[in-house]
Amino acid sequence: MKDVLIEAKDIQMYFPIKQGVIKRTVGHIKAVDGISLKIYEGESLGIVGESGSGKSTLGRILLQLQNQTNGDVFYKGEKISGISNRKLRPFRRDMQMVFQDPYASLNPRMSIGELIEEPLLVHKTVATKAERKKRAEELLETVGLPKQSYDKYPHEFSGGQRQRIGIARALSTKPSLIIGDEPVSALDVSIQSQVLNLMKDLQDEFKLTYIFIAHDLSVVKHISTRVAVMYLGRIVEVATKKDLYEGKLHPYTEALISAVPSTDVTQKKQKITLTGELPSPANPPVGCAFHTRCPHVHDRCKQERPDLVEYKPEHFVACHLYTEKSE
Ligand code: SF4
Repeated sequence: MKDVLIEAKDIQMYFPIKQGVIKRTVGHIKAVDGISLKIYEGESLGIVGESGSGKSTLGRILLQLQNQTNGDVFYKGEKISGISNRKLRPFRRDMQMVFQDPYASLNPRMSIGELIEEPLLVHKTVATKAERKKRAEELLETVGLPKQSYDKYPHEFSGGQRQRIGIARALSTKPSLIIGDEPVSALDVSIQSQVLNLMKDLQDEFKLTYIFIAHDLSVVKHISTRVAVMYLGRIVEVATKKDLYEGKLHPYTEALISAVPSTDVTQKKQKITLTGELPSPANPPVGCAFHTRCPHVHDRCKQERPDLVEYKPEHFVACHLYTEKSE
């Protein structure tokens, strides 16, 4: 039996749309619209979706950097949503985030040493300055940078090196969970694999659990053990990596996988091009939110929203093609 590290129960995040001088609420952006999800200790869950699918908002809610409109988050069985900042602090220490843009996420006026030591100061985990410096230098070496980097500043490093610094900073409090919000998407492809390999090694070394947010399936393929696919604020499919890549069910997942470049030159894949834009989360389509772009759309899809159901053991899908089969 796998232990659940973090669990989201029926999370909704509706951002109000304000208009006019008195800022009247005229509608809501349904960024996350009813997500329940368990993340197990030691796993690496990829969350994939187009920009606007709500994946980053979900990541921030899991860490409680953002309060949800409805639903609850549990960490190691304890409810962490709706509790005070003071009570949240020990949980925050155990959950860290690596951000997308290594240029924007590091304060340019702070030295690398100060940046890595900052979480230690906030969480009061290392008592003396000498101990903090020793820990920061060790972390620099852990992520493949010389300890002499301690006195340098972010502008003296390349994008890949800065992301290594971001990872060292995230590791400083010895967390159990790291959420990477598109941590390699701002980097060159050659550097991406180096950073992904580093993250994989660190996961083994420090027994970390990862949630890896990305906009395409090629990046998460290398690092995930399980993948959840999001579309317009909802999960449409979640399965082990093998089941998802080799036995995908949802038409949206099929289109995403068809866009992943194949490394096998003998295998010719037909790319499925989705027509139309992602609909606005302020006004999602009635029924299945994907029906405006789905090549398999039928009448039921335009009226009834499909629930996420377990079609096969540990393989969940939200699509009428599969519920109709069992009826
Ligand atoms: Fe396509 Fe219908 Fe399935 Fe939605 S429910 S993905 S529209 S077949």
